Amino acid sequence: MEPQDIFENMFCCNLQSPPPCIIKTEGVYVYDSKGRKYLDASGGPMAVNIGYGRQEVAEAAKRTIEKTSYILPVFASEARIALARRIRKRMPDGLGRIYFCSGGSEANEAAIKLARQYHVITGKESKHKIVSRELSYHGMTIAALSMSDIKMRKRDFIPMLWDCLRIEACYCYRCPFGKHYPECNIDCALALEKTILSEGADTISAFIAEPIVASAAGGTVPVPEYFPLVREICDKYGVFLILDEIVTGFGRTGRNMGMDHFGVIPDIATFAKGASSGYAPLGGMAVKDAIIERFEEKGVDFRHLYTFSAHPLSCAIGNEVQRIIDEENLIERAAIMGGYLRQRLARIEDLSMVGDIRGKGLLWGIEFVRDKTTKEPFPKEIAVKDTIIRECLAKGVFFYPGYFEDAFGRGDHIMIAPPFIITEEQIDHCVDVLAETLTELQDRFYA
Ligand code: PLP
Repeated sequence: MEPQDIFENMFCCNLQSPPPCIIKTEGVYVYDSKGRKYLDASGGPMAVNIGYGRQEVAEAAKRTIEKTSYILPVFASEARIALARRIRKRMPDGLGRIYFCSGGSEANEAAIKLARQYHVITGKESKHKIVSRELSYHGMTIAALSMSDIKMRKRDFIPMLWDCLRIEACYCYRCPFGKHYPECNIDCALALEKTILSEGADTISAFIAEPIVASAAGGTVPVPEYFPLVREICDKYGVFLILDEIVTGFGRTGRNMGMDHFGVIPDIATFAKGASSGYAPLGGMAVKDAIIERFEEKGVDFRHLYTFSAHPLSCAIGNEVQRIIDEENLIERAAIMGGYLRQRLARIEDLSMVGDIRGKGLLWGIEFVRDKTTKEPFPKEIAVKDTIIRECLAKGVFFYPGYFEDAFGRGDHIMIAPPFIITEEQIDHCVDVLAETLTELQDRFYA
């Protein structure tokens, strides 16, 4: 079988053309039509938490689709209610109202529209602007991409995108203010207040950020003061705090949600990926009860509905996935295996091209640099991350590329985010393949 007829979608890392055709998935492995087996150290990317090919999920899907093949989302459904209950339990207190759609980009679009509509119904019509961050990613659709900052994904579409307000990233390895924590005054958080004041608080609707940044900045974890300060600023100026938990949700970082590391509750948390562990298109948002109560008091609907919102198949799958996560204590496992992975990665720490290793739970990024002292990136032409990923794939392990890029198009990092069921032996294998590949390639990169 050859995938010649599909529209190739290999813009991410030029793996090979045509791409391998995957015909079977099981555990932490995917298998292609040529009989090759790959350990998916990227988890899908960063979506598959319970592992591939669980029979119980297939059975739940079958049962549901036999009974209810489609339900227009103006109606409730058993699967939808059950999943909403499970998701509410994952969220901190107060984020009790759950909305479903089909993926992360849709979820972020829904979130900024909900924030805007809330301001309209509460008489603050001038609040419409969104503030996002440099080195962030919120999705592919026009609005989600406008809020994002992955240059290679935006470049060709710039005239079509809206001019989103953007503040500096919380990226200590390359502090945009040239400062050092903890003497830095957390200027990256204070930048939000500056932007709100310079634009006028009465124009700002929401601030959106990933609790721990995934592929846009390779697992960067904010300093502990960052999100509490951001929450304070949002409260002060009546600005919604939207946390994009699309990667960090459902145990990926070793806690229920990424926000749990920082003790902050947003107004809206968006989710996707791990909600269904990749078994079906599923996304959504958890919203503060008080926000939805205002809509209810006013008798106003949230004017945003997709044909496939809360699809019974996706909801049933999400529900079964979350049941498995609970029953098998997989979030605790992600924390434990994440600790083990970090410990094993110490093996590559001293290589001269390894600049930074960062992350939490089973969400890790490794940044590669030409000069460890100055942090100078490799020239773009050497295609460091793509080469590493291709060579590791040839050895049967798939890592995912990151998209950090400086003004010269330079920047190399990879993501490691395997399913939570990964074993110590499988982690050892991933790290061995990576270490061996980096050692082999290093001379070529420095030539
Ligand atoms: N937000 C983050 C942090 C993501 O990493 C992604 C996808 O990778 C998205 C949003 C978009 O999600 P989707 O691809 O499901 O539209």
